[in-house]
Amino acid sequence: MYNALGTLMTSRAGSPTKDKSTTEISSDSLSKKTLSELKEQYALLSEDAKQLMTEKMFLENELSQLKKRVNRLDEEIRSLRTPPYIIGNIQDIIGEKVVVRSSNGTIFLVSKNPRIDNSKILPGVRVSMNQDTLAVIDILEDAFDPLVSGAEIIEKPNIKYSDLGGLDEQIREIRDAIELSLEKPESFEKFGIQPPKGVLLTGPPGTGKTMLAKAVASHTNATFLGLVGSELAQKYIGEGGRMVRELFSLARKKSPCIIFIDEIDAIGSKRLDSSTSGDREVQRTLMQLLSELDGFESLENVKVIAATNRPELLDKALLRPGRFDKIVEIPLPNIEGREAIFNVHARKMPLNKDVDFSKLSIITEGYSGAEIKAITIDVGMKAISEGVSKCKMSHFKDAISSIDMKRKGIKNNGPDRLYG
Ligand code: ATP
Repeated sequence: MYNALGTLMTSRAGSPTKDKSTTEISSDSLSKKTLSELKEQYALLSEDAKQLMTEKMFLENELSQLKKRVNRLDEEIRSLRTPPYIIGNIQDIIGEKVVVRSSNGTIFLVSKNPRIDNSKILPGVRVSMNQDTLAVIDILEDAFDPLVSGAEIIEKPNIKYSDLGGLDEQIREIRDAIELSLEKPESFEKFGIQPPKGVLLTGPPGTGKTMLAKAVASHTNATFLGLVGSELAQKYIGEGGRMVRELFSLARKKSPCIIFIDEIDAIGSKRLDSSTSGDREVQRTLMQLLSELDGFESLENVKVIAATNRPELLDKALLRPGRFDKIVEIPLPNIEGREAIFNVHARKMPLNKDVDFSKLSIITEGYSGAEIKAITIDVGMKAISEGVSKCKMSHFKDAISSIDMKRKGIKNNGPDRLYG
């Protein structure tokens, strides 16, 4: 533009006498040129403006995102700064107030958050409470203790009675005690008798107690809820008792259900004059277990099977009628039992003609079901590693002698040897 005007001025100053038409043409072309330059610049500037507008919108958008993030983080900081809530259980509802028991066992009458749906406020429900006023803040639905919810829960165990070898008598006893009352509760009512609530399985390790409990659950289409007794032996006051309560309430929710408590002696040992607070807590857990057993109707769809290797340690209170009133002993398998267990675990194995389970059952005197299972696994692995198509009697004999060595090793390296 400046150049154009410059040219215009020079031309005017340079030749005032020049032909008028020439001047008109040149000024016309000059203004056209200026106009096109101006248009060009206008286009460039509007392009720039558009870009700046887009950039502005983008930045505004980013700003609002960042503001939201700041709000979220502020919220997070606020919630991290709020004092912890206390966990308790509702005991009773009195008008607009509720009676709660805090986790240390003390009972309070407190108010509740009016926003909580009244129909959800029921005795036994777990709630969070304000630390200062103990007012009920919220309901903790389905909040079972992680240990209880971490229990082995199998909706439909896939174990059949035929998977157990040599336990025909025990299977019959447990079926009478548990299956009949789960399947025909009306018959018990008709005859006016109380079926057993719980069955205690006693016997050495690895004899199939857990498997038997799973098989009963599977046969009665019940959920299997398995827990080891030592998990219930907590050291904090009230913890074990609460876990027992939650275990039973979980079982009721999942009924029909079979609760299996392995190593029940961990909480069910004889009550002695307990000196430590840990011992007293274990006893409180046992008391809670007894009161749960007493509390539910024997025809409710929940049955308890407990197992122990040390029945002599158990508190007699556990064995009273209405509790574990049926005791099924599962000893180490006898010669027929061992043969049956070999048959169960080797039924899918391709076997050489020389394999004779009756002979093997003679040389495995004192072996548990778990050890016989270990033998068959060992045999299968050997056959696979040798690349043969069938398992031979020699494989079984080798596996038995290696398990024998391990058993002797355990005996020789036992605590006496360690310290002797
Ligand atoms: P523990 O007292 O150590 O808990 P347990 O008596 O509950 O042992 P299980 O866990 O039921 O024993 O058995 C261990 C394994 O041994 C099972 O996987 C099962 O395959 C095998 N087993 C034990 N007894 C038998 C049996 N009678 N028939 C078939 N298999 C058996």
